[in-house]
Amino acid sequence: MMSEEKSLNFIEEIVEDDLSTGKHNGRVHTRFPPEPNGYLHIGHAKSICLNFGLAQRYNGKTNLRFDDTNPVTEDTEYVESIKDDVRWLGFQWANELYASDYFDILYAFALNLIKQGLAYVDDSTPEEIAAQKGTPTEPGTANQYRSRSMEENVHLFEEMKAGKYPDGAKVLRAKVDMASPNMHMRDPIMYRIKHAHHHRTGDKWCIYPMYDFAHGQSDAIEEITHSLCTLEFIPHRALYEWFIEKLDIFPSRQYEFARLNMTYTVMSKRKLLQLVNENHVSGWDDPRMPTISGLRRRGYTPASVRDFCDRIGIAKRENLIDVSLLEFCIREDLNKTAWRRMGVLDPVKLVITNYPEGQTETLFGENNPEVEGGEGGREIPFSRELYIEREDFMEVPPKKFFRLGVGLMVRLKNAYIIKCDDFVKDAEGNITEIHCTYLPESKSGHDTSGINVKGTIHWVSIPHAKTAEVRLYDRLFQSENPAAEEGDFKDDLNPNSLQVITAYVEQDLAGAQLGKGYQFIRKGYFTLDKDSTADKLVFNRTVTLKDAWAKEVKKG
Ligand code: ATP
Ligand code: MG
Repeated sequence: MMSEEKSLNFIEEIVEDDLSTGKHNGRVHTRFPPEPNGYLHIGHAKSICLNFGLAQRYNGKTNLRFDDTNPVTEDTEYVESIKDDVRWLGFQWANELYASDYFDILYAFALNLIKQGLAYVDDSTPEEIAAQKGTPTEPGTANQYRSRSMEENVHLFEEMKAGKYPDGAKVLRAKVDMASPNMHMRDPIMYRIKHAHHHRTGDKWCIYPMYDFAHGQSDAIEEITHSLCTLEFIPHRALYEWFIEKLDIFPSRQYEFARLNMTYTVMSKRKLLQLVNENHVSGWDDPRMPTISGLRRRGYTPASVRDFCDRIGIAKRENLIDVSLLEFCIREDLNKTAWRRMGVLDPVKLVITNYPEGQTETLFGENNPEVEGGEGGREIPFSRELYIEREDFMEVPPKKFFRLGVGLMVRLKNAYIIKCDDFVKDAEGNITEIHCTYLPESKSGHDTSGINVKGTIHWVSIPHAKTAEVRLYDRLFQSENPAAEEGDFKDDLNPNSLQVITAYVEQDLAGAQLGKGYQFIRKGYFTLDKDSTADKLVFNRTVTLKDAWAKEVKKG
């Protein structure tokens, strides 16, 4: 479907409505606000595509804003990885900004509210504050600190900032409504004391604003017109608007959409961090991870991830997206762009008995038959001894087995038609060698044999083949929704999510490039891994050619 023909999603409807009434003078300004406490995952890609996509569509701008108000969990390593990932997805931000750059302004905002009698310093313990909050069915209760004088509050807040009190001794709270049906409005905490080093502001601050007293204000400071977040922030919206109204600052508005959940994985940085820290995976960019860096290393392309985000769309209700849709998107893209090569993953030796010993010839194979002209091609060396896939030979082939068995003929891809004459077995009954003869007049592109064979198989010439470590990946978890299982989600990890094998690949793949997709003919899509060296090739399987998990469609 062309994007022009697609009906608008509900956020585009809101934007078009605002444009038609002249709100914000026709300006659209969004932001993507990650907390730099982990690597981005495919859920974040949905938010990135939404925010940057809206700005592109309506000639607007998007800020990249690091929501760095939590000194303990944040790190510059994460900041750098986030920037890499957004750029890799193909987006460029208008401004790179940090909530921590607003700490002075936020402090002034807090003093403003105190002076209006709308905020107070509370000495209660976290337990006391929780107990006084009430429950969804019972109102909260005010404590004695709520009636502190404005002067006392100003003084105490200045002392909090000056470092006079230890962590947790006091908090600053907004004076909203302890009886509000919305628990978030029952005098929410604005500032807490935390004597911790911040990755940008160092030791300047020992009080840090809470999310609710940083996010909306940062939006207003940047004059964000449409602040998009996930559904769990719906109950925060009233507070978002309350602060903006009481501070009389730019009226940014918050809109909520459903987060992306995907089958057979987890989608929370906290959980992904556990997988990394406990060595269940090799790192944030392990190709089994749902992180953007993991997908990139696995061989996903930016276009395939954007296509996926486009297809899942934007909705107001949570659901669980089947990971096979993501796999469909990468197959679609790689089918059009990956260069075709040959690699044998489970080899058995094949000897062409009528091909002269010691002779080598050079054959030709197109890079990409999906493209007119084939995008050029490469030379493929051919000789008397080849590896073929073990599963392409059967001792007792059933009917309609269009591969090899004694008396059967196949075409070797880009080469000749061969006929199987016999085979050799070892003492354990394993087939060790297959003997064939070839038809010299059947060379691909110059075939005058007049013989039609049904099957074509891939192969590599043994003296020319390169060995490669090939990493085959499967789902990281065994159940569809591991986060919803009882107990520790890590108990559900798939013990067979990584299989490492040694394969033989055609000579040309010695020059494989990082970031490029290759189709190993009949075997799947692969990409060079960053662990590859001049002496040792390493490939990741991005995805198989077909969905191995798809339910068999019964033929009627
Ligand atoms: P996590 O729960 O994985 O730690 P988060 O929401 O805490 O994610 P942030 O760094 O705060 O991570 O998120 C940045 C932006 O990405 C937010 O606007 C958030 O709503 C959005 N986002 C996070 N996870 C998803 C998701 N699964 N689907 C869509 N958007 C998401
Ligand atoms: Mg968050």
